[in-house]
Amino acid sequence: MKEFDPTIERSDKALIIKKQDDLLKDTIKYVLENSAFYQDHFKVNKLNVEDINSISELNKIPPISKKDLQSRNKDFWCAPAKQIVDYCNTSGTEGQPVTIPLTKSDLDRLAYNEAISLACAEGSDEDIYQLSTTIDRRFMAGLAYAQGVIALGAGLVRVGPAPAELQWLNIKELNPTTLIIVPSFLVKLIDYAERNHIDYQNSSIKKAVCIGESIRDDNLKLNALGSRIKEKWDIELFSTYASTEMGTAFTECKFGRGGHEHPELIITEIIDEEGNNVKDGEFGELTITTLGVEGMPLIRFRTGDICRKFTDPCSCGRTTSRLGPLLGRKNQMIKFKGTTIYPPAIFNVLDNQEFISLYCIEVYSDELGNDQIRVRFSAERNFDLKVLKEQFSVNIRATPMLIEESFEDLYRIIHPKNSRKPVKYFDFRK
Ligand SMILES: [Zn+2]
Repeated sequence: MKEFDPTIERSDKALIIKKQDDLLKDTIKYVLENSAFYQDHFKVNKLNVEDINSISELNKIPPISKKDLQSRNKDFWCAPAKQIVDYCNTSGTEGQPVTIPLTKSDLDRLAYNEAISLACAEGSDEDIYQLSTTIDRRFMAGLAYAQGVIALGAGLVRVGPAPAELQWLNIKELNPTTLIIVPSFLVKLIDYAERNHIDYQNSSIKKAVCIGESIRDDNLKLNALGSRIKEKWDIELFSTYASTEMGTAFTECKFGRGGHEHPELIITEIIDEEGNNVKDGEFGELTITTLGVEGMPLIRFRTGDICRKFTDPCSCGRTTSRLGPLLGRKNQMIKFKGTTIYPPAIFNVLDNQEFISLYCIEVYSDELGNDQIRVRFSAERNFDLKVLKEQFSVNIRATPMLIEESFEDLYRIIHPKNSRKPVKYFDFRK
């Protein structure tokens, strides 16, 4: 395993920058020796290895996008097949999936990343983690969590995305302390426990690492989903954000003030449309440069995720910057009735309605080319449509078209064949 020093996360800012400058230089040298894509990218932009000596010079390199990864996937690979131990891929919800090969060292890096992330979320070798996400189907996250739990020296219960009944049976048998779980599934676990008289409030579970969906709003307060869980079940909730391309997680500490960055693993920038860095605390597109990656390192990759960065010190003593919750995906921005909306804001309104059991959002263009929103939902009991409409007008200042569906029909739509996760957002715009 490579030497990464977690004490860096509580170091002086100047020391963090110095460390990142050194790792960045190694990365640039490495990709120019091994990646056909970056060799071309530097050539086309008339750049040489000696032009980039520090993070402050990073913006000389034009950022790259998911399209580059899709069109020239293998030109990003830096290690021969003999050195690859695992082939992950992206989910492909935005077109062609991208394959990310991992070397043994990358797998160790992933384990280290997740171990220090879980430790940041109050984890230790005293914990037992119940993992409710898939570990197969080339999914990096599941593998990362499993490796991280093992590296942390904690216990692992690999239940996977099994029904609520099985989750509870495992909790009863093995007394895990922590769930690694999609928060909307956590709501389902609570519902199941209530229906089946399981004393969940006195179970062994003390905390949950919430993956895939945000539990906080833009101001870092618990959103509807987070509040709904917390009101019923007073366990500690930790938000985490990650992606396959980054191979790095941003996980909250117990103060819940954004996901802590691991500066020895990644460089983050928040940039505007023109590629310039925005001010700290302002929204922009997260752009990343991975550090210490062998299989498929990335330099200035535009993630498409809109979020903001906090650089003020955190109460936990870490000096690293933190990423706020995602406002949304850049290409999911909806211009609707004079306002700009990202899907998570609509999810938040729907998550706040206890009678809604399932929902999805469809965005399409009307005959004038304007964005329109259709919300399809299933309800558990009778409700007042007027109230739901009001909720939309109060929270997002516009009311989408609302269509009630049967649970079964909607379930089929939200769980398309071969998808590793439920799909709540469909974009039919031209
Ligand atoms: Zn903190």
